[in-house]
Amino acid sequence: MATHTPKKILIVEDEADIAQLVKLYLEKDGFRTTVATTGAEGLKQIKSDRPDMVILDLMLPEMDGLEICKKIRTTPDTALLPVLMLTAKAEESDTIIGLELGADDYVTKPFSPKVLVTRVKALFRRLERTEDPKQTSYAYGSLRVDLSRHEALLDGKEVSLTAKEFGLLEQLLHHPGRVLTRDVLLNTVWGYDYYGTTRTVDVHIRRLKLKIPLLDEAIISVKSLGYKLSDHIPVK
Ligand code: CA
Repeated sequence: MATHTPKKILIVEDEADIAQLVKLYLEKDGFRTTVATTGAEGLKQIKSDRPDMVILDLMLPEMDGLEICKKIRTTPDTALLPVLMLTAKAEESDTIIGLELGADDYVTKPFSPKVLVTRVKALFRRLERTEDPKQTSYAYGSLRVDLSRHEALLDGKEVSLTAKEFGLLEQLLHHPGRVLTRDVLLNTVWGYDYYGTTRTVDVHIRRLKLKIPLLDEAIISVKSLGYKLSDHIPVK
């Protein structure tokens, strides 16, 4: 692992044997872990104990994984908490993960614990690589964005953006592949004291797509939650 402090992972899983197996393999690899057997307990631990990642089982009694993930994403404090979902059916996973709830990755049951640990490490690496807070310029396909110069170039030509459009673009480029809820975007781009509605975000996203056609495909609307910038840059 890249950092000195071992990363802390919360496992939310009602099947005790699976939870223990996952815990064992993660700890063998140097991670710290805690286990919650219900969604309510998981959310409580997230609040009090702030893990670095959550491994979340989709099928849980009472509150299921979808609902928990939605709660994580819509709470400003935890909106960007990495979530790896454990799902039962491979064929449903792409849709569920990508378009409905905003998990960052998923592993289909039954899984090999070794494979799960590999995926956990890969997710940490991906997030560390793409979410560098000191980064001031971005390249996304034929789009170049320079934050310090407040400049966006598409195919080498400057695109004229308003401050809010530029702010939205910055947030999306800073968190590629991650779901950003309308509330989170509203708070980071407009500020906490702004009293507009989340529809404001939709309007500005639409304008951004009109000004930068590359983003029309690349900014994905995530059902009832918000938006994400695709990891896969459209070839244009
Ligand atoms: Ca379960």
